[in-house]
Amino acid sequence: MGVETLIQSHKRFKNEYGKKYINLFKELVDKGQSPKTLFISCSDSRVVPNLITMTRPGDLFVTRNIGNFVPPYDPECECSATPAVIEYALVHLNVENIIVCGHTDCGACKALYYEIPDNEEEVHLRRWLRFGEDAKIQALGLVGTQDQATLMSATEKFNVIEQIKNLLTYPAVKRKVEEGELFVQGWYYHTESGDLEYFNPVEYRFLPVEENV
Ligand SMILES: [Zn+2]
Repeated sequence: MGVETLIQSHKRFKNEYGKKYINLFKELVDKGQSPKTLFISCSDSRVVPNLITMTRPGDLFVTRNIGNFVPPYDPECECSATPAVIEYALVHLNVENIIVCGHTDCGACKALYYEIPDNEEEVHLRRWLRFGEDAKIQALGLVGTQDQATLMSATEKFNVIEQIKNLLTYPAVKRKVEEGELFVQGWYYHTESGDLEYFNPVEYRFLPVEENV
């Protein structure tokens, strides 16, 4: 889909959704945004937070990156985009939920298993993927390399679990969770079907969301 098509689509958006939601748009400017949930997902074009949760403008505070990674808390870390979003969401927006959403067929998780060329065109990508290493180690330890599909699924799921662990290294996250002011949950979205699973920490496995209602 080229830029021309996107502009045409925006005109349709303005005519259709713009008219329908104009009052909401104005209200969100007058009162400001107050989303209750920070949604951390992969940049993958098939994972669209507002679409899969059927939410409106103002509902989700979203950050997306390659692999839905959360760099562990480190005041000296150069990778501060995602940490800055987390801090803003907690300190200024007072979100009550954080969702880390992984997904099937994740290119970032696949990339953990091959060597990214050590050159200037992929230097950041190569460095960024280190945040998936713990998930890879866990998955290899559990399922080995016999079945690629099982290994990938395990890597993608462990990736969600590991990123939640990283999230809990942030002082504000840890404090709010302990005080009952913040709920953190891991999701696993199936890009091929739209199905969704959530991580149940008690059973230490992912379950269909239908069992969470
Ligand atoms: Zn992905």
